[in-house]
Amino acid sequence: MARKKQFKAESKRLLDLMINSIYTHKEIFLRELISNASDAIDKYYYEHAGHVSPDEFSIRIEANKEARTLTITDNGIGMSKEELEENLGTIAKSGSLAFKEQIEDESKSDVDIIGQFGVGFYSAFMVAKDVVVISKKDGEDMAYRWQSDGESGYTIEEAQMDSHGSQIILTLKEDTDNDKYSQYLETYELKELVRKYSDYIRYPIKMNVETSKIKEETKDSDKPEYETVIEDQTLNSMVPLWKRQKSQITQEEYNQFYKDHFFDYQDPQRVIHFSVEGNVSFTALLYIPSHVPQGFYNQDYKKGLQLYCKGVFIMDHAEDLLPDSLRFVKGLVDSQDLSLNISREMLQHDHQLKAIAGRIEKKVLSELASMLTKEREEYEKFWKEFGINLKFGVYNNYGMDKDKFQDLLLFYSSKEQKLVTLNEYVNRMKEDQKEIYYVSGKDVELIDKLPIVQTLKNKEFEVLYLCDEVDEFVMNTLMNYREKTFKNATQGDLDLNTEEEKKELEKTKEENKDLLEFMKESLQDKVSEVKLSNRLSEDPVCLTAGEGLSFEMEKVFANMPGDNPMGEMKATRILEINPDHPIFATLKDLYAKDKEKVKEVADVLYDQALLIEGFPIEDPIAYSRKICELLVDNHK
Ligand code: ADP
Repeated sequence: MARKKQFKAESKRLLDLMINSIYTHKEIFLRELISNASDAIDKYYYEHAGHVSPDEFSIRIEANKEARTLTITDNGIGMSKEELEENLGTIAKSGSLAFKEQIEDESKSDVDIIGQFGVGFYSAFMVAKDVVVISKKDGEDMAYRWQSDGESGYTIEEAQMDSHGSQIILTLKEDTDNDKYSQYLETYELKELVRKYSDYIRYPIKMNVETSKIKEETKDSDKPEYETVIEDQTLNSMVPLWKRQKSQITQEEYNQFYKDHFFDYQDPQRVIHFSVEGNVSFTALLYIPSHVPQGFYNQDYKKGLQLYCKGVFIMDHAEDLLPDSLRFVKGLVDSQDLSLNISREMLQHDHQLKAIAGRIEKKVLSELASMLTKEREEYEKFWKEFGINLKFGVYNNYGMDKDKFQDLLLFYSSKEQKLVTLNEYVNRMKEDQKEIYYVSGKDVELIDKLPIVQTLKNKEFEVLYLCDEVDEFVMNTLMNYREKTFKNATQGDLDLNTEEEKKELEKTKEENKDLLEFMKESLQDKVSEVKLSNRLSEDPVCLTAGEGLSFEMEKVFANMPGDNPMGEMKATRILEINPDHPIFATLKDLYAKDKEKVKEVADVLYDQALLIEGFPIEDPIAYSRKICELLVDNHK
């Protein structure tokens, strides 16, 4: 008797959870086992490429009603003793913790999270009280028999098997009022399940089926006699999903295929299925996930599409098929024009892959454009998850491809209070408006309160709020859109006033030249200039950056990790004062009476302007003392 080994502790709990709560559709166990069998054949086929033909392979289903067993056999690569331990002894080895958390979150909803974590095999325990796996690894002499009841652990012992492959033998649970496990022994039911879930599997799924047939010798008589014969039937059509007519494929089939092949537990947001005839002909089945994939922002995330050649799997992440800006796209490409050993000769085929990649990029971008015009809400969902990649598309390659992406960008608008496109912005621009205004900041609420934004809003100009660190790079790369230049409203001069107002301002400036110079001197190197401004409406002061580096860029650089010389770069600071604010009258007054006080007020105003811009102030204690003094003074 083989020694019994325990499942790892956490595995056991997971197993319980899974068997009892996750799958409401127990029938999917068959799909999982068939997929494993097909994968195992793929692996064998790939290892022996050139020496074997696809017709040598099959997956066999056998039901035995007396013994209540259902057996699934494949002649794939098989598993060694170590692999049996490793693969079937440890559940969810690729991230047990994440899995557990997710399960606990989502066990109430009807999501298919098993595929994602490589526990497909365990779904067998939803219907079986006992599972035996007999397997012989390709190239090895000995076969092994793994057995478990799914609760108390498992055993492994030596076994006999004629050729490489695996055999999974399920002994089904007894029927209960709710669950009729016997149904999985019925030919009709098994045929249905294969057709429903595994039709596209590329290897024949075979079963001996009892059928009644007319006896050969009575064929021509008036009373033909029937006999029961056993016929070896292939249950699946074996046409890969992507080779089928689009109109014949249901959304459900597309979604299921996605979840099976690309390890997601949620339906994709979009399916893009198309064929191209030409120099390089191919069919592509592409998916836009509905959420950012796990590990998407990690260095080792592998982008790329699966590559098939004439329906045969070649490689998993063909990177060249996807530009970086579309790295979130999942899917596959099947081409008859590529040779089977493409991975070795990849370089020679580079131009073919590039041609395919070009078509794919075009197609995906045009799908997105159409989603943007026809299904705005859907597009905004997409944007929330993956918009940053399209922004990257703009500034990547020194902006070479910006034209492809600029119309797909969305920014928050002061006017609409929602996301808008650049085109929508320009269409609405005021007649005399020459530039596209934007302001960057940490979030919409903060930007909305900025003095300059208030002013622009009062004057009925629309402002785009940039909340992503990369947004300014995007604007700097775009430079203009439909011949309108982008203008950071917190920087440089804004031409917002009438001639009259300008003249007025010039006059006030001239009259108060000395005061402004005095303030600049008292603030020393902190600012490059103190000036009166038409930028403010209600607020007393603001800080603006001179031409060149903006404040947001300064912050981005300062936050860059590691030893970076850019971190030292500072934007020039200009303190702007609102001539219509009472504080300005006070300053004028003080300047005549008590110049020392002007210095103090200048310090306070500068610190206030820093705070508004989201910068730390140098000496918060001094600031707070000065404020108090001024309050007390004022009260005397
Ligand atoms: P997944 O298939 O999602 O990786 P499973 O729990 O279904 O997770 O299977 C775990 C592993 O066991 C597989 O990755 C594969 O290596 C191995 N395996 C399962 N079934 C078979 C089989 N029929 N033949 C060979 N290996 C198999």
